Amino acid sequence: MSYLSVEKLTKSFDGTPVLKELELEVKEGELFALLGPSGCGKTTTMRCVAGFEEPTAGTIRIGGKVVNGIPAHQRNCGMVFQSYALFPHMTVFDNVAYSLQVRQFYRQGLGKKWGVLARLLHPRLGKVSAEVERKVRDSLDLVELTHLADRLPGQLSGGQQQRVALARAVIMEPKLLLMDEPLSNLDKRLRHSMRRMIRDIQRKLGITTLFVTHDQEEAMSMADRIAILYEGRLMQVDVPTALYSRPANPFVADFVGSSNLLTGEVISREEHGSWIALGSGIRLFTSHPAERDIVDVLIRPESMLLRFPEEAEPGGNRLEGKVERGTYLGAKVRYDIRVGEQLFFVDYPYTRGEALLSDGDSVVLQVEPDRVVVL
Ligand code: ATP
Repeated sequence: MSYLSVEKLTKSFDGTPVLKELELEVKEGELFALLGPSGCGKTTTMRCVAGFEEPTAGTIRIGGKVVNGIPAHQRNCGMVFQSYALFPHMTVFDNVAYSLQVRQFYRQGLGKKWGVLARLLHPRLGKVSAEVERKVRDSLDLVELTHLADRLPGQLSGGQQQRVALARAVIMEPKLLLMDEPLSNLDKRLRHSMRRMIRDIQRKLGITTLFVTHDQEEAMSMADRIAILYEGRLMQVDVPTALYSRPANPFVADFVGSSNLLTGEVISREEHGSWIALGSGIRLFTSHPAERDIVDVLIRPESMLLRFPEEAEPGGNRLEGKVERGTYLGAKVRYDIRVGEQLFFVDYPYTRGEALLSDGDSVVLQVEPDRVVVL
């Protein structure tokens, strides 16, 4: 069942549309990533969902209820931003307690107006209730920061500050968590451990989460499903493995992972597939349906086997080429292989410390028909 649904969402700034009839369905409890290049409209989508922007057209439903026109603070969304947005003069404890205290004061009514104002400026001026204290401790436990409760944000690393921001969001028990590039300010190692922490907490609490990122690896490693956006339009929504193996179009193929993308002409159709001519005399057999005559073809770099000519098996898709360059990347070597006019990128696992192929070596590329993907 969808917890968040976005129907025909259009948003224009000064008459220029930046979101164009966007459709999204986020299921209850899933971590759903919005992925796309800079400027494609990810943040604008999130801001419309949060209630910081009013859509130009379209409907947004949260928990089955239309929220167009409902102010942000009534949408029960938790937010985590790239910039952490912590109060610098408050301790970690107070930052996490803040929203909860404000909510409690409001529930107590306006009779304590001056007390509320004083506490807004510094929530620990007054006594923190046992319930707030317990909830803050629980949230800090969740992000493993209990021992830093009395520090100020300026005394924390970026990763720790982001964990405070996460604790501050989840303490409100939101039904929907919105995260806008939460890991983009962190270095690579920290990003990896934060991915795991966010994923674990999201699963443990079962919070429906919309996660904005421009980093495909981040989206692939964290999300249950991913929506790919380009110039304000939805390109594809699917689980990470399907986006990688069955991209809907060349944009998605290129954005998710690295690719050999070629344009070819279908020259014959047979019972189990089609022959495609790709220029430079290259002909490949694909087992994927090829309905149009001119098609885009995707071959992932790891889908091609690299053999010396004498080791290559006969038959199948077989291309003779020459090594133009080898780039050592740790667990693999990326080879640029020239076949006529066409350059193919081929990834070869590097496990046993073997010698690299030399530039100019003759090789044979072999690829199974089901790895020649027609888009
Ligand atoms: P990034 O990853 O760089 O943050 P994004 O995918 O999140 O990009 P948005 O921030 O949603 O993209 O912006 C989409 C487009 O809308 C951009 O061209 C941006 O300049 C434009 N835009 C966003 N907010 C406004 C605004 N308040 N006024 C005018 N144009 C805006």
